Amino acid sequence: MIYRKYGNTGKHVSLLGFGGMRFAEIEDREACVRTMLTAAEGGVNYFDTAPAYFGTKSEETFGEGLAELRRRGVPYYLSTKTFKSRPADVRREIEAQLKRLKVDSIDFYHVWCVTSLDQWLGRKEDGVLQEFLKLKEEGLIRHICVSSHLIGDQIKELLMEGVFEGVLFGYSAYNFKAREKAFDAVRAKGLGAVIMNPLGGGIIPQHPELFSFLKRADDETVVQAALRFLWDHEDITTTLVGFSNEKEVKEALLAMEGWKKRTADEFAAVKAGASASFEGLCTGCGYCDDCPQGIPIPKYMDAWNQMLLGGKPEAIGDRLKWHWNLNPEGASPCVECGQCEQACTQHLDIVRRLREIANPVVPVSEGMGTAK
Ligand code: SF4
Ligand code: SF4
Repeated sequence: MIYRKYGNTGKHVSLLGFGGMRFAEIEDREACVRTMLTAAEGGVNYFDTAPAYFGTKSEETFGEGLAELRRRGVPYYLSTKTFKSRPADVRREIEAQLKRLKVDSIDFYHVWCVTSLDQWLGRKEDGVLQEFLKLKEEGLIRHICVSSHLIGDQIKELLMEGVFEGVLFGYSAYNFKAREKAFDAVRAKGLGAVIMNPLGGGIIPQHPELFSFLKRADDETVVQAALRFLWDHEDITTTLVGFSNEKEVKEALLAMEGWKKRTADEFAAVKAGASASFEGLCTGCGYCDDCPQGIPIPKYMDAWNQMLLGGKPEAIGDRLKWHWNLNPEGASPCVECGQCEQACTQHLDIVRRLREIANPVVPVSEGMGTAK
């Protein structure tokens, strides 16, 4: 296992991190804990969860897994988050989290999911930062971090304020262009950079042909190649993989074991070799899924992905019909209020896409790269 400095915190974390959002069978506590232990045995020491993964069950599972690690004397770092902003709410949340996680303190505590700079201003006005600083003084958290789905230059702006010690954001072989600027601030401020969605929310393994530009002779699969592509990036501290089971942990550990770091020139060449921009793809994160008109937006955007990835407009209707049991007319109640686009972590032009889905006589005018 490779370990990297987490910014200026003095901590060293494993380049492969454990994300607690994709356990295959969350009710099978024993299997989930075993998955965590297998990762720790392989050298993983960064464990990330959140208060809403599987309800509160991911944190509860972590509570048991981490207790077992302590019994075995295995060192680890714990990361979790809160979406709360008002001091009393933050306090109530962390008290419940500490109980579920069976710990006295949290190493990396995140202001969770900043989706716009205005939203961050609002949360600051609510008092989130003061409360985080208090928690740190009291020793309940060790480091103040932020997670965000903003695009690169906005993440940069957020981080340049200088209040955070680390940042968690989505970055992968398909959206690296949209997020690259965030690393300017990571370097300037000496921050930890934790990467989520390293496989583009499943898009990379589902479309190996599209990402074949990543593969070298010693990469057995495109998944291996996609992880190694991130590990080649020197500003990345750790990459979170949402492990379902022990098998996936072992595969990722093998990928780490066989990884030979590219030179900076080789790395730049791979990036340049990306045949197209993938910035217009929906990752299925679901943050837009609160439409006042009841439109299941992620499903419609998933159908649009199929067109982008398959290149044929008919793929949209096929996906809606056969995969989601929906029809194109279901996109028509959109009143263009814009709420979903505000929330969209990929900054997609959802309204236009829905309009074109609902009214297929309007030609589908763009291919890849339709992020706003
Ligand atoms: S813009 Fe349309 S799809 Fe988006 S939230 Fe508003 S009504 Fe729903
Ligand atoms: S449309 Fe945007 S917010 Fe909604 S699921 Fe896709 S990427 Fe996420």
